[in-house]
Parts: sequence; C-alpha cells; structure tokens
Amino acid sequence: MQHLWFEHILLPQGWADRVRIGVVDGRIASIETGIDALAKDDRHGTGVPGLCNVHSHGFQRGMAGLSERRGRPDDDFWSWREVMYRFLDRLGPDDIAAITAQAYVEMLESGFTRVGEFHYLHNDVDGGRYADPAETAGAIIAATDISGIGLTLLPVFYAHGDFGGAKPAPGQRRFLSDIDGFAQLIEQSRAKLSGDMILGIAPHSLRAVTPEEMDALVALAGHGPIHIHAAEQLREVEACLAWSGARPVEWLLDNQPVDRRWCLIHATHLTDTECDRLAASGAVAGLCPVTEANLGDGIFPALRYLAAGGRLGVGTDSNILVDAASELRAVEYSQRLSHRRRALLADDTRPSVGRRLFEAAQSGGAQALGIASGLRVGGSADIVSFDMNHPALYGATIETLLDHWIFAARHGAIESVWRGGRKCVEAGRHIAADAVAARYRQTVAGLLA
Ligand SMILES: [Zn+2]
Repeated sequence: MQHLWFEHILLPQGWADRVRIGVVDGRIASIETGIDALAKDDRHGTGVPGLCNVHSHGFQRGMAGLSERRGRPDDDFWSWREVMYRFLDRLGPDDIAAITAQAYVEMLESGFTRVGEFHYLHNDVDGGRYADPAETAGAIIAATDISGIGLTLLPVFYAHGDFGGAKPAPGQRRFLSDIDGFAQLIEQSRAKLSGDMILGIAPHSLRAVTPEEMDALVALAGHGPIHIHAAEQLREVEACLAWSGARPVEWLLDNQPVDRRWCLIHATHLTDTECDRLAASGAVAGLCPVTEANLGDGIFPALRYLAAGGRLGVGTDSNILVDAASELRAVEYSQRLSHRRRALLADDTRPSVGRRLFEAAQSGGAQALGIASGLRVGGSADIVSFDMNHPALYGATIETLLDHWIFAARHGAIESVWRGGRKCVEAGRHIAADAVAARYRQTVAGLLA
C-alpha cells in the first residue's frame, strides 16, 4: 500500500488535520486522521478532492483563439459554430487524440481529475461511418490514457438540424446517426473502456433529437448519466416555444423523467418556475460560464437556483480556456455583475464563497459523471494539493484557502495532482506536458497549414 500524508485535507465531513491516506490500485483503502506521517509516506501540505469537469468537447481546444476576430457585426454563437464546423472538416482520429490530450493535460494541471466528454464527432470527414463506428471514441480514450484523467464518455446522439426533426446541415454530417446505428456505437464504445471509465449517453439537444428518439435514448441509458445541452441561447428558447409551446427546460421537465441521472448543460435561460423545478428534480445544472461568456450566451440564475437547493457542476465546454478556478470564479462574478452585490453564493452557515462553490461543484460534478463524491474509502484517489508558499496563498488558512485559490491565484498555486493514485502533476506541471504539447503543436500546425 502507498501512503500519502497531508497536513490538512478536505474530507466529506470537513477539513481534517494530519491525515494519512492509504491507496491500493488507485483507490483509497484507508483514511486516518490526527496522525503523524511515517518515514516512507509521501508528505504534502494542504489537499482537496479533485473536481469533475462535467462538459468538454476536447477537439475544440485546437480552435481556441481562432474565432475572436470580428467577422460580421452580428457575430454570435451561431457564427462561432460555423468556424467550428470548418475546423472539424479536416480533423482525423489522430488529430482528435492529440488535441484532446492537450486539453486533458491542462485540465489536470488546473485541478480537474475526471472529465465528461460530450463526444459527437463520430463520422469520417465525408460523413461516412468509420469501419469501426467507435473509432473517434478510441481517440478520446487514447487521450485519456496519455493524460491519466478519469473519463466519463458521453457519446452524443445527433440526428436533426433543428426542432421538429429538421434536415441536418452539411456541417453536421460528422455527428449524425440513427437510433440503431447509435446503439451499435454505444456497444463498440463500451468495449473500449477500461479501469474506472464510465459510459453515459448524450442526446445532443432538443434541436437535434425528436421526442420519440429521446425516449429510445433514455431507455438505452439505464442507470448511467444522461447529459443534454438545453437553453443555451435565446434563439433556441424561442424556436422551442414555436415548436412545442414550451421552453426547453420546461419541455424536458414535463416530458422526460428528469432526475439525478440527468445533467442539463448550460440551462442558462430559465424562468423562476423552471429554475425552482430544475432544482427540485435532483438533476445537475452543468454550468460552463467561461464558454458561456465567450459565446455571449447569457447568465445562469445561480443565486436563485442554489437557494432553491439546486445541484450544479462546472465544465470547460469549448475549452477556450481550461481552468477549474476560472469556471468557479465566473459563476460568482456573473451573479455579482447582474445583482451588483458581493459574496452572493455564500450563505450564513457557509460564509466562504470559494468553499461553497467548490463543494457544490465537487458533489454535483461527481453525481453528473456517475462517481461517488469526495475522498472516501473505496473511492478513487483523486487529490489536488496546493503550494502553500505560492504568493497568492500567503496568509491563507484552511478557512480561506479556497477563496484565495479561486479569486486570487493563477495556475501555479496547484502543486500536485493525483488521479487514481497516480501522480500526474508535479510542481504544477503535468509529467507528460512537454511531449503532449509537442504533438499538439505539430497537429495544429498541420491543420492550419
Ligand atoms: Zn457543449
């Protein structure tokens, strides 16, 4: 058994001192608190459980920075999507693996230890199927193996171009399948999983899936996670109203068994009633506030949602900037900017905004990706430790550490990251960072040539 020892670590019951964690085959076998380190223990300062990144499209990391120039006066989500469609016209499985590995390395360095990959790039560049329908799922798994991050693979079902079963656009040809083809894709993807990888299902959105298809997909999902994009854009809300008389989240709550298995990605545009009903459903709202800001989506009503007992996770979505603390910070700052007050997502019993946000995203994220939350015996040894000598953490106590990290530190405040007991990040750098970056540079250069 390997032993890690921490001066302080955040356990499900709160901060504990002088904690010795035994790890066997990547899982936590024992937790002893109030105990001194033994000679062979790997000793560290202050640790917290790793976070789950509930929503990623790994390949989009390769186009980060390419769509920040003004193309036309009404640039919005939909013009960004055209840039994305052009980028993926050229992307092969090796390119996907190289770009996704870079995104995953950055995730680990920022404190994410598991990713929910919302994977929709299934077909060859001409829209035909690969000989192995799960070829590109294999590329995601390769990126997972290279980086060491935990994976909840969410193969996406995508069949239509808009509400009401509209014909897909040419730019969507690499995403498309029918229900039978998708069931095969799921089986082929499942056969590629190893270790503690988890398989869920992702109906892309109400734009891309009919109600009948949605029923079939939910039946396929069993007890596994179900993720869907919902209410990211006002145009989507208006189109949904025109199609069904209901808003996207309202439609889902009325017509699908939305419960703890579900993660509604974005859920940005909610009425108060939708917000309260979503909170009561037990589902997770998968917030991606950095991407939502980048795409001009809107602001999620986090204040009301948390007050109603809602569960949330955070995701890096387009991977325009891969950074766990930035996502958490943006959740709070979006509320401050819209309510013109401070420290909004704390409450009387939990005065630290950083800790409340961290713990909400930690447990909601774990739920959304199908794993047990927090550091506990039997769970994966997914741990993040901080460099308490980092200037941004000077003066921090365990009570304020998460506030310092989320609001005042940059990247370097994280010292080590263990994922499944394996140390992936040391002195703030992923152990394979140089090799992964070299392959990434070569891949992007080839794609942009
Ligand atoms: Zn997305």
